[in-house]
Amino acid sequence: MDLAVDESHQVLGDLNVGFVRGTLRLTRANRRVLVNGQLQVAVDAECVRCLTTFQLKLDLHIEELFALSPSADPVYFIDEGGWLNLLQPLREQILLAVPIHLVCRPDCKGLCSQCGQNLNDGPCGCDADKIDPRLAALKTLLQ
Ligand SMILES: [Zn+2]
Ligand SMILES: [Zn+2]
Repeated sequence: MDLAVDESHQVLGDLNVGFVRGTLRLTRANRRVLVNGQLQVAVDAECVRCLTTFQLKLDLHIEELFALSPSADPVYFIDEGGWLNLLQPLREQILLAVPIHLVCRPDCKGLCSQCGQNLNDGPCGCDADKIDPRLAALKTLLQ
């Protein structure tokens, strides 16, 4: 059977999920159920450059065996109501899919090292070329 997933605003521990969408195929395999499919997930993430929280969209491929009761497998199981306990497996998949150096966009300008303004919002007025005189002396030394 196919299970359409369309959930919004799920909190998975430290992850804030904007939405989870996709279709999962459930296939009975012995005493377990194979869950297979592609999910699109949006999670809140923080840009390493400008520290802004933004929504990161991920495409996840899910392929897991679920037990038919939590006693057989406390994490990967389908409960009595038939509803899939997707939360924990999803969290792991999402954590694996999130890149380490997350930026809100490839050309993110980051924060000004002097005044801390988000430079994506516009220039802050600090003189970026202004070099500490001591550093300037060091620079000459290194040339
Ligand atoms: Zn950024
Ligand atoms: Zn500045």
